[in-house]
Amino acid sequence: MIPFAHPLAAYHHYRAEIDAAIQRVMNSGRYILGPEVEAFEAEFADYVGARFAVGVASGTEALWLALRAVGIVEGDEVIVPSLTASATIAAIVESGAIPVFAEVKDSDLNIDPAPLEKLITPRTRAIVAVHLYGNPADLTTLTAFAQAHRLRLIEDCAQAHGAQHAGRSVGTFGDIAAWSFYPTKNLGAFGDGGIVTTQQTDHAEQLHLLREYGWRVRYDSSEQGWNSRLDEIHAAMLRVRLKHLTEDNQRRREIAKLYRSALPVHLHGPLADGSDVGVEHLFVIRHAQRQRDKLQATLKQAGIGTAIHYPVPCHLQGAYAAFGQGPDSLPITERAAREILSLPMYPELSLAEVEQVINALLKVMEALE
Ligand SMILES: *Cc1c(COP(=O)(O)O)cnc(C)c1O
Repeated sequence: MIPFAHPLAAYHHYRAEIDAAIQRVMNSGRYILGPEVEAFEAEFADYVGARFAVGVASGTEALWLALRAVGIVEGDEVIVPSLTASATIAAIVESGAIPVFAEVKDSDLNIDPAPLEKLITPRTRAIVAVHLYGNPADLTTLTAFAQAHRLRLIEDCAQAHGAQHAGRSVGTFGDIAAWSFYPTKNLGAFGDGGIVTTQQTDHAEQLHLLREYGWRVRYDSSEQGWNSRLDEIHAAMLRVRLKHLTEDNQRRREIAKLYRSALPVHLHGPLADGSDVGVEHLFVIRHAQRQRDKLQATLKQAGIGTAIHYPVPCHLQGAYAAFGQGPDSLPITERAAREILSLPMYPELSLAEVEQVINALLKVMEALE
């Protein structure tokens, strides 16, 4: 069986370094917000080209605290694509804000800036841009649009560690950016973790307060904070994985290139804009004849694991439908959700395994036609 994601393979690949990092932390006696977190925050900020990085407990909390840090409060409206992890919407709702669902572009399935004007109301305060599948959203247009309308721009970089737009890392364009270290992400921990990056001193200060009970001084909450801390043991392992992120992303691109050159064009899915550097977090194909589910089931029988990101757009999910306009309100999003399929994609996939996936897929396609 070839799984669609495989964090255990990453552990095996970097086992000696990861085990050493674990031992270092265990023997240090420091387990929460110590030297490993501090070093990782500095190294990650440096990698991204951000002034500040603040480690937190997950990507979802990174988004939630980022929204709070830039001043989003109850009743504010936040524009967000519906085609995203439900975590993006959960964070907006948790901050008290109202998600306003936006349509995506067919080419890359990222938020389409063109129709956003129509979503603006006197209560609109922010846009959350998600760099879905590792492809940068149109940050040039979005930053100009946010500036023109005096909106905050928050980047959801959970799937895009290492991606670049206009020669710069994603996460450095908006006011603030949230990243996840969920095990299957391009930079994955072996547990939950997240980080917030920003160029602005006041946002960074606010995040330091929010992630630990609102303490300016220990044991004295000057505002209502939370416990959202990154563990030392995860920071130590993430330092190992960050050192290898560039080579791991390169390997993902090579695998994606093999897939693209072998698969018929009508199966090709979302693609990064020509001048952008994507990081192939997921390799997504599209099957236009509405036989996607059959394709997935047959691949499973052939030992190929796949997944769908995401089968139900957020504006049609039970928890969030009340914020949306119902079926057929976002046709590009809804059609994509019926057609997309994520193939196995992780740096440790061997050439033979990539070939096995391609051959199985071509065979299944022949049978379906
Ligand atoms: C994974 C993910 C998140 C949530 O991150 P967690 O660390 O799992 O909380 C948020 N947004 C997107 C786009 C994601 O892919």
